[in-house]
Amino acid sequence: MEDVSITIIGAGVVGLAIAAQLSEQYDDIVVLEKHDKFGQDTSSRNSEVIHSGIYYPHGSLKAKLCIKGAELLYEYCEKYSIPYSRLGKLIAATNDDEKRHLQEFYKRGIQNGVKDLTFMEDHDVARIEPNVNAVAALYSPNAGIIDSHSLMESLYETATAAGVLFSFGSEVNCISKKENGYVIGIINDDYKFISKVVINSAGLYSDYIATLAGIDVDSAGYRLGYCKGSYFSYAQKSPIKMLVYPVPHKDLMGLGVHATMDLSGRLRFGPDVEYIDTPDYKVDINKQNIFYESANKIIKGLDKEAFIPDMAGIRPKIKGEGIKDFIIVDEADRGLEGFINLIGIESPGLTASLAIAMHVREIADKFFDYGG
Ligand SMILES: Cc1cc2nc3c(=O)[nH]c(=O)nc-3n(C[C@H](O)[C@H](O)[C@H](O)COP(=O)(O)OP(=O)(O)OC[C@H]3O[C@@H](n4cnc5c(N)ncnc54)[C@H](O)[C@@H]3O)c2cc1C
Repeated sequence: MEDVSITIIGAGVVGLAIAAQLSEQYDDIVVLEKHDKFGQDTSSRNSEVIHSGIYYPHGSLKAKLCIKGAELLYEYCEKYSIPYSRLGKLIAATNDDEKRHLQEFYKRGIQNGVKDLTFMEDHDVARIEPNVNAVAALYSPNAGIIDSHSLMESLYETATAAGVLFSFGSEVNCISKKENGYVIGIINDDYKFISKVVINSAGLYSDYIATLAGIDVDSAGYRLGYCKGSYFSYAQKSPIKMLVYPVPHKDLMGLGVHATMDLSGRLRFGPDVEYIDTPDYKVDINKQNIFYESANKIIKGLDKEAFIPDMAGIRPKIKGEGIKDFIIVDEADRGLEGFINLIGIESPGLTASLAIAMHVREIADKFFDYGG
């Protein structure tokens, strides 16, 4: 491999979106991915929901990039025939306490600029989703679902057609700064090359990649924890037509076990929240009762026996108290100009992927002649 302008580490949906976006402007881009295919980690283990941007603190990157990302994603789906459905979403409050929290989320959603968000009382909820159990709900018609695999396939094709080189089976294990860029090394391969700009989009392992570049991730606040979310599928006809969520806890650890559908209409519940030390994707059958109880709180007429263990995904959660934002930053302040870190890209990372890519391009352009 010759020396290159830009190296992207990680071919999940975010790395792919960045590759496709940057390929419009740059010729020599390399993507290094440790698996033998793109999108094998978190990007293929999620709810596939296009979020509308209600939950995230106003002014945060999560809020801005989610709202912009959803708009870009719907346009992209139309343009490239990616299967999607704008199903709409209800966040259901089941008691007065939750209703008060819901009012706060409503204010936040409006502040964030969420389109067509409506606060509904119980009779209006019953009219649009008779099997939802709610004293009040937030209705967001702009939320939807997407076939994330088709999205990734399309981004991959766009990037490769524009000349991006993908190197699969390439696990980065060495990064060192030199005057003209970064020397990058790959496990079980003696070959090293220099890249002027490096984009760390390694998902669950992005804190490790930052460490390789010499960053103390604990003092930087980049240390990640693995927060597993399991799903159960529902082996009977769905009693609902749209996405139905509970009111999340204020710290937004997860959005609560919710009901999502895939594009064939198959109903699924999840993800729950479980901190683990080592990534594993097994779903514990013993959680059937807990999932049933959580789902039964917001949806009427469910059959417990129809809850079948499905799949799990792992959120790259930044450790520490409070709600965490996406970290997307060029590390010039640490003496690592041109090293762009993306840390803690949990939900709504799929929704935001195209907007994240545009944001990263604005940062990357500064290192070439295109920057302002
Ligand atoms: C349970 C769950 C539900 C979610 N639901 C939603 C949702 O409904 N809507 C939404 O918008 N978002 C959702 N998300 C979030 C979304 O899935 C992620 O934000 C998104 O997939 C992150 O993509 P990524 O490319 O950053 O990471 P990943 O998909 O994890 O990709 C990172 C890539 O880096 C590679 N890599 C790692 N280390 C190295 C290395 N050393 N060398 C080379 N390659 C390396 C990995 O192999 C991987 O392919 C959910 C997440 C979870 C866990």
